[in-house]
Amino acid sequence: MYLSYWELKNWFTNVDYTIVGSGIVGLHTALRLRERFPESKILILEKGMLPEGASTKNAGFACFGSLSEIIDDLKTHTEEEVIQLVQKRWSGLQLLRKNLSDEAIDFKPHGGYELFLEDDDSSYNECLQKMPFINDLLRPLFKADVFEKQVDRFNFEKIKEYSIFNPFEAQIDTGNMMQALLKKAYANNIQILNNQTVKNFTDSGTEVEVQINDFTFKTKKLLFATNGFAGELTQGEVKPARAQVLITEPIPNLDIKGTFHLDKGYYYFRNINDRILFGGGRNLDFEGETTTSLDQTNLIQNKLDELLKTVILPHTEVKVAHRWSGIMGVGAHKKPIVKPLSDNVYCGVRMGGMGVAIGSLIGQELADLV
Ligand SMILES: Cc1cc2nc3c(=O)[nH]c(=O)nc-3n(C[C@H](O)[C@H](O)[C@H](O)COP(=O)(O)OP(=O)(O)OC[C@H]3O[C@@H](n4cnc5c(N)ncnc54)[C@H](O)[C@@H]3O)c2cc1C
Repeated sequence: MYLSYWELKNWFTNVDYTIVGSGIVGLHTALRLRERFPESKILILEKGMLPEGASTKNAGFACFGSLSEIIDDLKTHTEEEVIQLVQKRWSGLQLLRKNLSDEAIDFKPHGGYELFLEDDDSSYNECLQKMPFINDLLRPLFKADVFEKQVDRFNFEKIKEYSIFNPFEAQIDTGNMMQALLKKAYANNIQILNNQTVKNFTDSGTEVEVQINDFTFKTKKLLFATNGFAGELTQGEVKPARAQVLITEPIPNLDIKGTFHLDKGYYYFRNINDRILFGGGRNLDFEGETTTSLDQTNLIQNKLDELLKTVILPHTEVKVAHRWSGIMGVGAHKKPIVKPLSDNVYCGVRMGGMGVAIGSLIGQELADLV
């Protein structure tokens, strides 16, 4: 045993709550538990140097579903389920803003736009035709029309004449948001240990034995917030979905402002610090992108390069500064899974592509299962 008496005593004895994963959900779970149990010992175990799933890798859209996504969801979910999903995302966003402040997360209400590629008649026509119906569906929640038709004013190319504007959509600085959240966790006496992978656990009915690397300890409750890595835990109900992105060098006089959804949400881009952050293309290789590996592929990165140069910035010389990928958790249903797995083990996983919005609320729900 390599740990000292002190290390065992202060870090690993009488642990009340152990949370696996320090993403948006894990950190909110910990903060909610602190609110409910001020004197408890709360520990977060994170396998990465940083939270290395999606929470520090995402695009920072503060969104709750583009028009085509909502129309698509209505094909596999009931109206009530879709309204509930939108409502949860919207409430989650308000909670995130309240918990951390708009200043800390650099909240910018520039609005969001859905664009349609010039050969995509079917999605374009369907969206224009169903927009009034979807606005009616969401009016009780927003007390106004969410979606409206607008002529493109950003000089994009190879797209249809009209885009769909959503004034309720916004953007945040993902790095600032996660740092603010981590700071809040430290300030609330939540211990976070990085580079610790939870390998196994046994629930005895009164407590849980947890194995990390080559060491085991006991905790009263164990809560998994491992999202895209929760496949085994949920018997395959959650699948990993890699998302690849790039960011350009700063572009002088960039006048694109907002969050943009392209090709039914398979591509997305936004402005950030005079740059364009652009991601997507999972639809080019769904099978290959069902992975937890944080690599990039030429197939997808080349397509991002092409769309960047032909659609988004056709009149500007632009260089890519950096590329990366992150892992989302998806499944047959869009609704996150928040449930007990045994007497003292729980999970809050499957955030899909909208964990920035829904993550804070799901963290609360997970903590409230205890
Ligand atoms: C490129 C990209 C762009 C995105 N864009 C947006 C967007 O614009 N807007 C939006 O709302 N959402 C977006 N998302 C989705 C959003 O980021 C996620 O839904 C959200 O971050 C999920 O948070 P989480 O806490 O559930 O999971 P994660 O942030 O993935 O956290 C899970 C953590 O668990 C850790 N872990 C896993 N297994 C173990 C283990 N055995 N032991 C210890 N630790 C473990 C992982 O390392 C990880 O840090 C995007 C995602 C990606 C990848």
